[in-house]
Amino acid sequence: MTEGEITAKAIREIRINPVVPGESVLIATARSLRPKKEEPPAPHDARSHVETCPFCRGNEDRTPPAIAVVPPSGEWRLRIVENLYPVLGDDQQNPNLAFGLQQTIDGYGRHEVVIDHASHGIRVHEMDEDHLGLLFSTCRDRMAALYAANPSVRAVLVFKNFGPAAGASISHTHSQIVAMPVVPYNIEAEVRNSAAYHEKTGRCIFCSLIDEALSFEATFYDRESGIVRRKISVGQYIIERGSRFIAIKPFASRFEWEVQILPLAHEADFVNLSVDDAADLGRIFRRTMARLNTVLGGVQYNFFIHSLPYSPGAEARQPSYHWHIEICPRTSVPTGFELGSGLFMNTISPEDAAARLRSVEIA
Ligand SMILES: [Zn+2]
Ligand SMILES: [Zn+2]
Ligand SMILES: [Zn+2]
Repeated sequence: MTEGEITAKAIREIRINPVVPGESVLIATARSLRPKKEEPPAPHDARSHVETCPFCRGNEDRTPPAIAVVPPSGEWRLRIVENLYPVLGDDQQNPNLAFGLQQTIDGYGRHEVVIDHASHGIRVHEMDEDHLGLLFSTCRDRMAALYAANPSVRAVLVFKNFGPAAGASISHTHSQIVAMPVVPYNIEAEVRNSAAYHEKTGRCIFCSLIDEALSFEATFYDRESGIVRRKISVGQYIIERGSRFIAIKPFASRFEWEVQILPLAHEADFVNLSVDDAADLGRIFRRTMARLNTVLGGVQYNFFIHSLPYSPGAEARQPSYHWHIEICPRTSVPTGFELGSGLFMNTISPEDAAARLRSVEIA
C-alpha cells in the first residue's frame, strides 16, 4: 500500500472498545485535531556504561539491596531492587483519617525496579530474544512472589516507561513492578466486561478477538451509492504471529501506534507463563518493538501487563479473562477535548497503522 492510498480514504467515526465499551475512540483521519509532538525525538543515550549510573555494573552498592539477581551468581543479566521512591510501601498510614466523602485505602504495597539489562542505553528491540524471554519469566516470578508474600495484594502491575515523553526519569533501561491493595479501575473494567461477555456467549472475548483477526473478512457497502465503505481482510490487524503469541493492532486503538500482544491459547494469569511461552513472547515482543521503532524513528512508549487480579471471586473469572500486554507509544499529547470528554482521539486509522507496521523489514 502506498502513502497515497493510505491517506485517500478519510475516516471519521467513533469506535467502541469491544472489551471496555465505556472506552471509545474518535478516529478522525481527515484532519489533525491533535497537537503532535513536533520536537525531534529525545536524543537516545546509547552508552553501554555510565560511571555515575547506579544501575550500571560495578555500582551495585549504590542501589538498595537487590531483591533478586538473575543469574544468582556470576555476572548478572537482570537485577531487581526496591524502588527508592515507592508509589506504595509497607509503611502504615493512619487508617482512621477517613471522614465525609474523603475515603482512603491504606497504601500497603510494594514497588520494585527491574534493571532490564546491564547495558545502560540498550533499547528493547536491540536486546537478544532470549534475554527478553528471561525478562518476562523474571517478571512472572516476581509477580508470583508478590502475590504469595501478602494476601492483601490484589493486583500486581508490571510496566515500563521508556523515554521522557513516557515518564522515564532514569535513562538506564528498567521496568517496574507495583503490588497494590486494590484492583485498578482499568483492569477491573476489563475483568467485569469480559465476564459479562462470557456469561452471554460462553466464550472469552479476547479469544474471540484473536479468532476474528485470524479469520474474519467482510465488505461493507453504502446502501445508497453502493460505494465500499469498509473492507476487512483476513490478517488486517495482525502485526506479528508466533507459535504461542500474537501482536494485534486494536480496531479501537486509543493511541495511534498502540499494539497489544496476547497468548494465542486461552490463559488468564501471567503467573502461568511457561518457559516455551517466555521464549516466543521474547521473539514477538522484540519484533513488534523493532517495527514501532522503525516506523516512528525512535519510539517512546509505556507498556504494561494486564493479568487476572487476585481479588475475591477472581478465580471464577479464569475462563473469561485473558492476560495481555498493551504497548502505548507516546506520539501526541492529550487535548482538552480528550480530557474533558474521556474520548480518545486517533488521527491515523488502525488499519493504515497496521499496514505500515507490517511493511517494516525486520532483521
Ligand atoms: Zn546505567
Ligand atoms: Zn481467552
Ligand atoms: Zn488490558
